Amino acid sequence: MKKLVITTAAIASVNLLHAQKQHADYPIQPIDFTHVHVNDDFWRPKMEMNAIVTIPYVLQKCRETGRVDNFLKAASKMPVGKITDFPFDDTDLYKVIEGASYALQVKKDPKLEMQVDSLIDIIKNAQEPDGYLYTFRTMKPPKLHEWISVNRWEKDPELSHELYNSGHLYEAAAAHYLATGKKSLLNIAIKNADLLVKDFGPGKAAYWPGHQVVEMGLAKLYRITGKKEYLDLAKFFLDIRGDGNIKGDKYNQSHIRVTEQHEAVGHAVRAAYMYTGMADVAALTGDKKYLEAIDDIWNDVVQKKIYLTGGIGATGNGEAFGAAYELPNMSAYAETCASIANVYWNNRMFLMHGDAKYIDVLEKILYNGLLSGISQDGVHFFYPNPLASMGQHRRSAWFSCACCISNVTRFMPSIPGYVYAKNNNDLYVNLFMSNSADISLPSTKVNIVQETGYPWQGNVTIAVNPARASAFTVHVRIPGWARQEAIPSDLYKFDDATATPLKISVNGKNVEYKIEKGYAVFNRKWQKGDKIEMYLPMDIEKVLAHEKVADNKGRFALQKGPIVYCLEAPDNAGNTVQNIVVDKNAKVDGGYYEAVLGGVMLLSADGNSTSRQLNSDELLKKEQIVKAIPYYAWNNRGAGEMEVWIPYIESVARPKPAPTIASKSTVSSSLNNARMHRALNDQYEPQNSNDHSALYLHWWPRKATTEWVQYDFAQEYTVSETSVYWFDDGPSGGCRIPASWKLFYKDGDNWVPVNNTNAYTVSKDKYDVVKFTPVKTTALRIEVRLPNDFATGMHEWIVK
Ligand SMILES: [Zn+2]
Repeated sequence: MKKLVITTAAIASVNLLHAQKQHADYPIQPIDFTHVHVNDDFWRPKMEMNAIVTIPYVLQKCRETGRVDNFLKAASKMPVGKITDFPFDDTDLYKVIEGASYALQVKKDPKLEMQVDSLIDIIKNAQEPDGYLYTFRTMKPPKLHEWISVNRWEKDPELSHELYNSGHLYEAAAAHYLATGKKSLLNIAIKNADLLVKDFGPGKAAYWPGHQVVEMGLAKLYRITGKKEYLDLAKFFLDIRGDGNIKGDKYNQSHIRVTEQHEAVGHAVRAAYMYTGMADVAALTGDKKYLEAIDDIWNDVVQKKIYLTGGIGATGNGEAFGAAYELPNMSAYAETCASIANVYWNNRMFLMHGDAKYIDVLEKILYNGLLSGISQDGVHFFYPNPLASMGQHRRSAWFSCACCISNVTRFMPSIPGYVYAKNNNDLYVNLFMSNSADISLPSTKVNIVQETGYPWQGNVTIAVNPARASAFTVHVRIPGWARQEAIPSDLYKFDDATATPLKISVNGKNVEYKIEKGYAVFNRKWQKGDKIEMYLPMDIEKVLAHEKVADNKGRFALQKGPIVYCLEAPDNAGNTVQNIVVDKNAKVDGGYYEAVLGGVMLLSADGNSTSRQLNSDELLKKEQIVKAIPYYAWNNRGAGEMEVWIPYIESVARPKPAPTIASKSTVSSSLNNARMHRALNDQYEPQNSNDHSALYLHWWPRKATTEWVQYDFAQEYTVSETSVYWFDDGPSGGCRIPASWKLFYKDGDNWVPVNNTNAYTVSKDKYDVVKFTPVKTTALRIEVRLPNDFATGMHEWIVK
């Protein structure tokens, strides 16, 4: 058993914090990650990867992409020249410093500490004398970014992100101070927060933050400094939202006052950061009105707007929550940042209410839709986390908007902070991962040692070692999934409603315990060597969605313990999974494979692959073994097909295309994009031109150009008819049906227009069919003229 090493500076700072903590706060307090040493085979390697690979990588990227230069330019230490894309690029540096601070607390690294110190110096030099810190303005570029107003703050409710930058600065400064005891970044944050206090408030600047996060940042600065002005300002920023003085918008939750909001709407990251901030301000001020709002919003999300993977924000249109039960799989947005924000929010809800249902949701996010955001090599990332793919999704090494990347680096090292919590002599065990933790209760100090095979096995041993024998209460969370509850609502349910009984013992004896708010509660006098042993039945469950979730009709998902599974191409016959059908009563087996994807439990069942055939609507079926991997691990072996929701009804599967002229053709185009080319001949019938659930080809952001697509046939054919289904995502998107199009056939080395016998039409939501005098040829080409102001796309192209 390894001992936790805590630097003296950190102990001093934590003591200082506790000395100042006389104000109201959450009734339950988390046990800080610095007191919990995780030593398991699941999380520890992932956190080490983050510290050793991802943090240095992101720091290097911040340098390479000019994010560090932005600060040097603001300090007049280099010419302005070309600057980065977004006014919020400063926050990537703040977030990676936050991550590095956490990592330094877990393991000393003088080289990293020196880098962080020198970056803080660079940040300090970019701060204006009155505390303003926003490189995009301070560097005085020849032309201000279009999101920025001439005067400070004015465009913050829209897009300037000045207050968003401040919020992430405060989060980073709080982490850096608590982890290292150094005040260098904290002083920069305080100077900036003092400026905000001076500039904002009743009778002063009355703008709300366009992208929330400063509210929770201010709450953290208030906890550290005890300056009530910071808490008042956080409350002010919440209370002016939607007060009618500036026109608000659902997009950033300013359409009505926050206390009148009862449904989750708009941009999901903004929303979840705001709900977190509302919880913080409610805890620190005792204002119940915020709580009433976020209690309702939480129910709305968990009942109608969360994916089985824990992802939120169904639509890329505004990176936003969709309508109730609008949870499409292939076009799911489910941004990694939104998952992180949702963990923050659910943790606060638990600290407020002490109910395990919030940790059930938190655990679901953590092991699935959040963890999927980072690759196993630590340097590839997902921004959206879809639940199905035709191969169009691929992890990226970087995004010009890098929010999710820097967010993951700061989140990973903080995970041990979600394992335990306390309220006086009530100790909560929330998450299961092997660790050793040192916790101070009023009655005694206690060392807890957890040993478990989680998340693959449900055995958990909790050794409770008080410094001296004392009475206190241990609340051990019984996960919802171990009680046949897929989620604390009727949005998802397990097909098998019968729960396998739990086994819990203390010192090898069955003892009486109460179940309270989802916890097994043990109130006794504990002494060194006491052991709680628990066996959580980790049966393989088939999950069904609420009937109103249209995309999941006729489908089930697989879950074992907290882990949600998916089918992925490399494990299944013919590298396809969209065509698979598995009977709802099929027996599913599981086995642990050390060598696969860093060591995972794989599931398998008998199923069928389906394919279309010519001249018949009946599907061809072929038996095969169907294999599933944990969802979080997908897309680590290249792009390819994937799905979480597996059809048990043939009609909802996407059978392999029948061998037609088109499906046997080689596709090329003026796009040179093999993934998009697959769209044209996949025989998927779009619901309408704006169907995002299928693969489509598009020329966005080009406009007013002439483009082409081409089929090279497998052999010479005589053809006389072609049909095209256009992609058009108007009025919000950038694609429309084309201005015009024309078909050519290959004659020797020349492209010759076909002799069409009906006119070319251009239609939305249906096929445009053109018939022509039969030609014998080896290739066809369509020339597409894009509209003057828009791009165009194509769903399907049929040849007869
Ligand atoms: Zn993001």
